[in-house]
Amino acid sequence: MKVGCVREIKAQEYRVGLTPEAVTELAARGHEVLIESGAGAGSGYDDGHYKEAGARILRDAEGVFAASDMIVKVKEPQAEERAMLRRDQLLFTYLHLAADLDQTRDLVKSGATCIAYETVTDRNGALPLLAPMSEVAGKLAPQMGAWAMQKANGGCGVLMGGVAGVAPAKVVVIGGGVVGTQAARVAAGMGADVTILDRSIPRLRQLDELYGGLFRTAYSSKATTEALVYKADLVIGAVLIPGAKAPKLITRAMLGRMKPGAVIVDVAIDQGGCTETSHATTHDDPIYEIDGVIHYCVANMPGAVARTATQALGNATLPFLLELADKGWKRACAEDPHLLNGLNVHAGQITCPAVGRALGLPF
Ligand code: NAD
Repeated sequence: MKVGCVREIKAQEYRVGLTPEAVTELAARGHEVLIESGAGAGSGYDDGHYKEAGARILRDAEGVFAASDMIVKVKEPQAEERAMLRRDQLLFTYLHLAADLDQTRDLVKSGATCIAYETVTDRNGALPLLAPMSEVAGKLAPQMGAWAMQKANGGCGVLMGGVAGVAPAKVVVIGGGVVGTQAARVAAGMGADVTILDRSIPRLRQLDELYGGLFRTAYSSKATTEALVYKADLVIGAVLIPGAKAPKLITRAMLGRMKPGAVIVDVAIDQGGCTETSHATTHDDPIYEIDGVIHYCVANMPGAVARTATQALGNATLPFLLELADKGWKRACAEDPHLLNGLNVHAGQITCPAVGRALGLPF
C-alpha cells in the first residue's frame, strides 16, 4: 500500500502522524511511504530521518494526497486537505466529528473511508488511541501548575515539594482516570501533598491499592470537594463523563473562598472544563486570573511536548496502521471489531451512529 503523511497545518500543531520508526516498520513489510518535506520538523524529525527509514520525500501535501492510498495524520483534515481526499482513499487520524458539521459534510462528500483514532476501542471498552494523549496531558498538568504557582505568573508562590521545615504544596486532583492518575503520580513525585477525588468507588479502591503510600484518595462529594479545594494550592481538573460536557464541580462562588494565588489547571477544558470560570486558552497565552485564582486551560496540552506526544501516539497507532496497510481497511475492520468502531465515514455515508445522532444526520 502507498501510505502518505503530510505536515499538520492546524494552528499550533507540531505533532506528526508517522514517526521514522513507523516508516521503518511499514517499509519492512513492503509498503511505500510518502512524506511531505518538513512534516516531522515540529517533533524533531527531519527529512533525512524519514529517508533513512525508507520513505520517499515529496515537496508538498498535494503530491502526497495524489499518490497515497492511505493518509495518516494527527488532527482532523482542514478544509483545503478535505478538498484533496478521494473516494478510493483511506484517512486515519483524529476526527472528532460529533462537534464538527462542516468537516463531516466534506468527508461524506469526498466518498473517502475515514477511520477516527478517538472511536477505536480495546478489549476493556477503553479508547487506546486517546489514552496516550491523556497520559501526556496528565503528566504535564503538575508541571504547568508548578509554573503558574510562581509569583511572577500571578500564583501563590508555593514550591511544589516545599523544602526542609516548610510544607509542600497541597494538590487536589479531581477525577482519577488516565489524566488524573498521571497528574497525581507526577505531583507526588515532585514532593507535593496530593489527594485524588473520584466518584467511582472501584476506581478509588484500585488507586488506593496501587498508590496508597504516594497520595490519598477521597470520594467526590460536593462537601469533600469544597473542603479540599479551599485548602489547595493547586487543583487539577481531570473528570470525564463520556459523551457529555464536564460537570462544573468548581463554581464561581467557590473561587472567593480559595487561597489567593491558588491555581486551577483545568485539563477537562476540551469537554468544557470542570470549573464554571474556565475558558479555553492557548500555549501562547495560557493563563488568566479570576477572583485571585489563576486558571490554566490549554485545550491541546500535548502540543507543548510535541516530540513525546508524537512518539506516544505513534506507538499506539502502529499496530492498527500495520493492520490497515497489510490487509486493506475492509479485511482489517472485518477481522478487528475494535478497529471497525473507528470507522466514522465510508463511501458518502456516516457509519458511526454517535456522530450521526450528534449532528442530526442520517447514518
Ligand atoms: P478517564 O475517563 O480516564 O477519567 C475520567 C475520570 O473522571 C473517571 O475516573 C471518572 O470516574 C471521573 N469522574 C467523572 N465524574 C466525576 C466527578 N463528578 N467527580 C470526580 N470524578 C469524576 O478520562 P481521561 O482520559 O483521564 O480524560 C479526562 C479529561 O481530560 C477529558 O475531558 C479529556 O478529554 C481531557 N483531556 C484534555 C487534554 C488537554 O489537552 N486539555 C488532553 C487529554 C485529555
